[in-house]
Amino acid sequence: MVLFTQMLNNSPDLSDAIYRSKNIFANSLDSDIFWSGRNFVIPFFVIIDILIVFWRLIRRYRQMQLRHIINELHYIANGNYDYRIPFELRGDLSKVVDSINGLVDSTVAAIEDERAIEKSKDELITNVSHDIRTPLTSIIGYLGLIEDRQYQNTDEILKYTSIAYKKAKQMKSLVEDLFEYSKVRQPSVPVINVSFDMVQLLEQLAADFELEAKKKDIQILVDTTESQLVMDGDTEKLVRVFNNLITNGLKYGTHADKIIIKIEKAKNEAVITVQNNGQPIPREALDQLFDRFYRVDESRSQEISGTGLGLAITQNIVNLHGGYIYAQSNEDWTSFIIHLPLHKNQAKALSDNR
Ligand code: ADP
Repeated sequence: MVLFTQMLNNSPDLSDAIYRSKNIFANSLDSDIFWSGRNFVIPFFVIIDILIVFWRLIRRYRQMQLRHIINELHYIANGNYDYRIPFELRGDLSKVVDSINGLVDSTVAAIEDERAIEKSKDELITNVSHDIRTPLTSIIGYLGLIEDRQYQNTDEILKYTSIAYKKAKQMKSLVEDLFEYSKVRQPSVPVINVSFDMVQLLEQLAADFELEAKKKDIQILVDTTESQLVMDGDTEKLVRVFNNLITNGLKYGTHADKIIIKIEKAKNEAVITVQNNGQPIPREALDQLFDRFYRVDESRSQEISGTGLGLAITQNIVNLHGGYIYAQSNEDWTSFIIHLPLHKNQAKALSDNR
């Protein structure tokens, strides 16, 4: 104000001009135009004031909500992963809350998946160590007897070496199955798709097993009305699937005299059933057959060699082809039924229709 007064005193022109405009302003206050304007100006500023106050209140409220959300986020980040932000908001903040809750959901799911994988790896190591230790203990035991010359004659040496040899082969097949299992479990496992005739492939396989089956008085038959069934797939892996199922039929089909391989074409899929007669699989065991290392008690007690990985590998290979497998068993037949898409692009449709 002091500076302004000094400036006016030093500059008469400027103070003159200001004085004149003050008069013009005073005159205009008396005019009708201004009075009619005044009726409008005062409410206008009152409304603007209210709007500003309202806008500031809303901003304050938003800031409070945001602070609240941040507090909730801290609470979740401190390890309370079961907690979700409970309040419902409107507008953009509601999207933020939904996104946070969604993000927490997917993070929790990922953590649980990771834990399940970790747990299943631990179980795998426990099972493998156990299954390797048992035959290994036997091998060391029998070879130890020979080493310490605790035998009467050559026949006894041969008996011990034969047991050790059998156990070593058991270990080899476990390691091979494990290798195969870990290979088909890898997410990036390559599936080499080629076009092939499933009827021809299965007839060839049945012929390969004929001699082995004859030794057990079992007949292998291929039952189909199709002269050929051309489809896409990784033949090497699919051969492994059917090898497993036929071998199982021969190994576990107690009192069986038939293994039938049925081939049917249904819409866009091939339905292949490998079934054997003989003693059925108990109902309660059916659901676990495809779990790794699972063996029906009877197979264990009968000392039929096996690792319990065959059907787990089989299921993985079928899934890799976009198909699925399940087992059924009754007094007449024990059947393993496989649905496979005929062509690669139908794989997704098949899994969607499941
Ligand atoms: P493995 O033959 O190495 O034990 P699998 O995963 O192939 O492992 O089979 C799991 C179990 O399922 C077998 O131990 C056996 O008890 C049972 N099983 C499989 N196929 C048959 C079958 N055709 N008939 C009866 N039992 C079967």
